[in-house]
Amino acid sequence: MADIFTSLLWGILSLMFGSFINVCVHRIPRGESIVSPRSRCPYCLTPIRWHENIPVLSYLFLRGRCSHCRRPISARYPLTELSTLILLSAVYMKHSHDFPLLAVSAGVTLILITIFLIDLEHQVIPDVLSLILLVLGCLYSPWNPFLGSETAGRLMSAGLGFLTGSGLMMSVAFVGKKIWRKEALGGGDIKLMAALGPLLGWKGVLLTLAGGSVVGTVLCVILLSLRKIHREDAIPFGPFLTVAAWLLWMNPRWLSVF
Ligand SMILES: [Zn+2]
Repeated sequence: MADIFTSLLWGILSLMFGSFINVCVHRIPRGESIVSPRSRCPYCLTPIRWHENIPVLSYLFLRGRCSHCRRPISARYPLTELSTLILLSAVYMKHSHDFPLLAVSAGVTLILITIFLIDLEHQVIPDVLSLILLVLGCLYSPWNPFLGSETAGRLMSAGLGFLTGSGLMMSVAFVGKKIWRKEALGGGDIKLMAALGPLLGWKGVLLTLAGGSVVGTVLCVILLSLRKIHREDAIPFGPFLTVAAWLLWMNPRWLSVF
């Protein structure tokens, strides 16, 4: 019974966090506060009442339209809430036996989803999100099972991860700029990888970069051949890095390829 109750509570919290991610994705790139004012319809600016702001259900109940001006609400909002529910459910199923690991994993997941969506839409990774990730990774590093089996080794691995993430990305950016004579990697990507270092360790950073690059390249080739994107389009790298980092965080045994 307690299990059902806890799972249900986790699910409700996940949907609420998904709703909060929608607010962050809209407001952080615009430099607006994420706590006030209340959410408004982007067209008629009518404040959204609490019962119109229930994750997923309100969207279905309002049939995807603002109750005041009847203009369509983007399906992206309920999709983000549902995706957050799915990913956090996966985290819960994997780590519910270890509360600190569960909490850190949930935090990492929420930040990665937010970065994924903001970079996809705005081609920017806000510094504040990478900074939270970095602080979380550093604070948790003495206990992080990802980084080895004893404390001293974990701390060393976290430091090495940070150096690998920042150093490797700066080298790639430098070489890329020499070859293509334009910005190949944004500063946001470098900071994101540096921030992932203390969470994933140096091996994790290398695998994330490799995985993100492979998935990104394959997807770009497919989209180019389908003429969905063009050669001169700016393709953000952050979404691929966040997907690779999350998958690796959920599957640490992949590290054994080293
Ligand atoms: Zn409206």
